[in-house]
Amino acid sequence: MSTALFVSPHLDDVAFSCGGTLAALKAKGWTVALVTVFTRSVPGPKGFALHCQTSKGLAPEVDYMALRRDEDRAFAACMGVDHLWWGDLEEAPHRGYASPEALFQPPRAEDVIEAKVAGCLKPVLWDLKPDRVFVPQALGSHVDHVQVVRAVKGLGIPTTRLLYYRDTPYAVRQPQAHPDAAVPQGLRPLAVDITEHLPKKVEGCIRYGTQLGFQFGGVDDLARTLTAFHRQEAQARGQPGAAEVFLSQGAQ
Ligand SMILES: [Zn+2]
Repeated sequence: MSTALFVSPHLDDVAFSCGGTLAALKAKGWTVALVTVFTRSVPGPKGFALHCQTSKGLAPEVDYMALRRDEDRAFAACMGVDHLWWGDLEEAPHRGYASPEALFQPPRAEDVIEAKVAGCLKPVLWDLKPDRVFVPQALGSHVDHVQVVRAVKGLGIPTTRLLYYRDTPYAVRQPQAHPDAAVPQGLRPLAVDITEHLPKKVEGCIRYGTQLGFQFGGVDDLARTLTAFHRQEAQARGQPGAAEVFLSQGAQ
């Protein structure tokens, strides 16, 4: 049986970016695994880190990351994810990125998280020996996504097994965004038909309740945005229905 590993910087990126492909592979009988890198609870958050949770209507004493790990567990149950891992690393607002703008600047020199990201992914790759590994392109340049792409580059995963997903909703907001410089050159777009799996994708994405208002404007907007976006992605590659598009070495 074939195995696919989906690598998510945050608790929601894989769902929003390639949840349809995850559902399609699961339906075909693949073993599907999900690892999310930045999931650590940081007690007593301050400043911008605290703002990230209070701006979503959550009181300061709430363990925001615990809530989000619960959402991730609910997503995994909904989609039939076979293996679920959480990296014990802290998100950028806890690493000295102190404003919304700072999150989209190049990594700070003092930010040495890349080696830790690699350390988090290595044992998962070793355990699972996946046939396909889905990783972000870092469209939109969120520093946590960039650090994941850089770490992946150093892991020696055969390029034939790697598929780089289009970070969503960044790809919706910034259609012209370029993949990070750490994504290899010369890859080609591969459109995966998710027409049949789009409702399942939306059903899964709804589990990330704390993020929907901020990222999409709410549940109804999530369904509307993803439906329109994935139709457009298919159309742009001359295909009917809905698609998730990846960069890969494979033919297309
Ligand atoms: Zn993210």
